[in-house]
Amino acid sequence: MKFINKKIVFIAIFCWVLIITGNFWWIYRTRVMFQKQLAKNTINILFDMLIRVGELDREFNGLFVLVKNKHNIFKDSNFYIHNKETSNMFVKISPSYLIKKISEIIHKHKNIRFHLTSLDPINPENKPNELEKKVLYNFYNHNVNEEGMFIKHNGKNIYFYMKALRLKKSCFRCHVERRYKEGCIRGGISVYLPVNNSQLVLTNLLMPYIGLCVIGVLVIGYGGNKLINIYTQLEKSSFTDSLTQLPNRRSFNEVIQREFSNSQRNKTPLSVIMCDIDKFKLYNDTYGHQAGDVCLAKVAMVIKKSLNRPSDYCARYGGEEFIVVLSTSFSGSLHVAERIRKNVEEMQIPHKKWFYKVVTISVGVASMEDTSGLTSYEEILKKADEALYMAKTRGRNQVQMIELKSQT
Ligand code: GH3
Ligand code: MG
Ligand code: MG
Repeated sequence: MKFINKKIVFIAIFCWVLIITGNFWWIYRTRVMFQKQLAKNTINILFDMLIRVGELDREFNGLFVLVKNKHNIFKDSNFYIHNKETSNMFVKISPSYLIKKISEIIHKHKNIRFHLTSLDPINPENKPNELEKKVLYNFYNHNVNEEGMFIKHNGKNIYFYMKALRLKKSCFRCHVERRYKEGCIRGGISVYLPVNNSQLVLTNLLMPYIGLCVIGVLVIGYGGNKLINIYTQLEKSSFTDSLTQLPNRRSFNEVIQREFSNSQRNKTPLSVIMCDIDKFKLYNDTYGHQAGDVCLAKVAMVIKKSLNRPSDYCARYGGEEFIVVLSTSFSGSLHVAERIRKNVEEMQIPHKKWFYKVVTISVGVASMEDTSGLTSYEEILKKADEALYMAKTRGRNQVQMIELKSQT
């Protein structure tokens, strides 16, 4: 299996996008939840404060304020007294009026709106809106005490919270209606707290995350591609002979194993051609090692060019030895071997101290029509080597061949 390929790079990119998306969603959810919690806490504090003010008012048996004209603002307040000494008029204001006034101040400064409301309000201004009505019914029917939710109100994101107001003994001083009992729900206070738009949270987070995602994809894509290239080069070089640019012995071992299996499976012939440059030591001694290298590269090129079919394969087998693998029969491989020998000779590379005066090769061929009887390809290699030895001993610059008979 390859250490790195395009599929692995794509998987890495996919994982990166998945991690970023997951992380983004988690951060987004956490922020929104945190915002909601903050809204709830803020409301709870303010709400608690309002209730305490109401309780304080009741504890002091009402709050009296000085009025100039009893007919103007204190409509829903009751119990006026006249201080004879100062001739001043005082009015006792109800807890509901006090809450209303505090709400107005908070609304003015903090944009938080409170609404004291009831399904049966004394003051018509305290009539509930649709949402409040629904929540109040919920309080009555299910004996619930509070409810909070995020709503869209006048185009703004609002955290809406409502708490039931239950009548206490002290409330009956003002709430004289007989039909209400202590502990029953008289109404509720609703709060409208503007909160940050969750869409805004989304947009604020989205930009850096998209940037991070794109950068990551580019880095992985570019880096992965570079790694693939380096790996392919390394892999190629580890299977290539640097002098002749032909596949090396390592590559040959893999190919012959594969071709041998193919020939056994498909019952096709397999031939091996072994070539060895004649008197090459003498060539080196005559022209020098560097010239020997050039000669080797030329011979390698000619052998390669002598092969016609794309499936024909040649490699540098050893020092000045080359090997060819063909899936052709006896006569076909003999043809190819002779063509290789002739082409090398016709290159006319001078070799003045050798009998032929030019560089020649000896060739040994081993061929087998049906390899199914063999357990290893080694047998064919051995026979090719034997044939090459025959060519050497019979005078060189010639082709010798051995045909292996089927053992089945
Ligand atoms: P024969 O005809 O019997 O094959 O004789 P030969 O001289 O070719 O055979 P021998 O095995 O005695 O010598 C092979 C020589 O090939 C020896 C070695 O210096 C040379 N040789 C092997 N690899 C290289 C190489 O990469 N470059 C060069 N220049 N020479 C090489
Ligand atoms: Mg040799
Ligand atoms: Mg030789």
